[in-house]
Amino acid sequence: MSDAVNARYLTSGIVIALIFGTLVGWLTPGAAPYVSWLGQIFKLSLAMIVMPLVLTSILDGMNSVGDVRRLGKIGGKTLVYYIGTTLIAVTIGLSLVSQIQPGVREAKGDHKTAVSALEANAPLDETVNRFQGLSAAERTGLTDVLRRLQEQSTPLPQQKDALLRWLGALDMRARAERAESTQPVDPPSAGTFLRKQLDKALVNPFQALASNNVLAVIVFAILLGGALTTLGRQGREALALNRTINQAIGKIVGLIMLFAPFGVFGLLVDVVAATGPEVFQDLGKYAVCVVLGLALHVGVVLPGIAWVVTGVSPLRLFGGLGEALSIAFSTSSSNATLPVTMKCVEENLGVDKRVSGFVLPLGATVNMDGTALYEAVAAVFIAQLYGVALDLPGQLMVAVTAVLAAVGAAGIPAAGTVTMAMVLAAVGLPLEGIGLLLAVDRPLDMCRTATNVTGDGVGALVLNRWAKADLHGEFDDDADTVVK
Ligand code: ASP
Repeated sequence: MSDAVNARYLTSGIVIALIFGTLVGWLTPGAAPYVSWLGQIFKLSLAMIVMPLVLTSILDGMNSVGDVRRLGKIGGKTLVYYIGTTLIAVTIGLSLVSQIQPGVREAKGDHKTAVSALEANAPLDETVNRFQGLSAAERTGLTDVLRRLQEQSTPLPQQKDALLRWLGALDMRARAERAESTQPVDPPSAGTFLRKQLDKALVNPFQALASNNVLAVIVFAILLGGALTTLGRQGREALALNRTINQAIGKIVGLIMLFAPFGVFGLLVDVVAATGPEVFQDLGKYAVCVVLGLALHVGVVLPGIAWVVTGVSPLRLFGGLGEALSIAFSTSSSNATLPVTMKCVEENLGVDKRVSGFVLPLGATVNMDGTALYEAVAAVFIAQLYGVALDLPGQLMVAVTAVLAAVGAAGIPAAGTVTMAMVLAAVGLPLEGIGLLLAVDRPLDMCRTATNVTGDGVGALVLNRWAKADLHGEFDDDADTVVK
């Protein structure tokens, strides 16, 4: 299947799966146990591929950096800029998602409609279903309370009182749990925290691969990749072999994605049967959260950096990058946009060719502010949706793995959605959450790719200013750097 046909199949397949999955889950919730295995297969396939993908992607990212000993001043500064801005993007994403809480449902639901259902003598199931965010056990509990009151012929006002008291208690509990999850009662000291992370990070790599220990695999891959870049031709050959394996894994991911529409169907029937079609409201809020974060980063942070460091005004910046941004937006691929990004920064923004020739190809592969922001928001959204409380170390882990997952993602469409598995696995979140994200992925991919390319363009401008003094001879002997 050609890429274009594949993309069309996926986009339309997922939309169809969404529509049918929602309808089936909503109208015939009893069908869920018969189709949920489709979602399970999708989830298991992703789980199968995630660790090989992490290892080979990070090794490939190291390959793009070239010989680590010869990174030189400009290499060091470039990495500082890339990692610094990516961390700012992740911080914006994490702050927004914890404020907006797109995946958190109010346990109290809609009192008014439930009370009127009770008044109208609606079946109890229907009354209880007016409330979102109740677990199955809570639904049964509430139904039991109401049934008992009705069996005892308790007058309606008292039934209403009981209903509200019950929901009030749920709501208070939910609030207390939320407060607890954001303020750990007994925060671990910096020493214990560091010790715990070290215990996780320094592990036999084979054991780490087998036990889905993403952090340890990342640490090992950075060390191994860095060491290989110093071994001359043989090292390059090993890294080239890794690139081939990474591409083959990409093909397997492509095969799994062929199954995505069926997986999404199974997952949606399951989710909608359990929670109702409200899950789409959550997805909408999540998408708004990502777009808002990207807009802040592209509209305020990046032009602010460009202005302060280089004196280039936002108007000139976006005027100069305009062509690249429209291509990034329409192709969802930083790699495909690279030639245009180079032309834009050199011709319109006056960046030295030697700077752009180093900074931009590296940036298209490893500098992905938009992808990192999206990964962080998406991981916390999934945690909220599945009711998993992420404590402070958990959030830090999301931040770090989101940066690395963005580094590991290739500059091609939907790459970030696949490396998302790495962030989820690192904090023990359910991988099937990715199936839900696919529903709104394409437009978000377009926005995050435009953000990635803006980040690269501003990077070229900033490095052009910072590195002027280091330029002599830095690049002339850098022919070993292999660019994706
Ligand atoms: N499509 C993005 C890019 O090429 C990567 C991603 O976030 O999926 O920059």
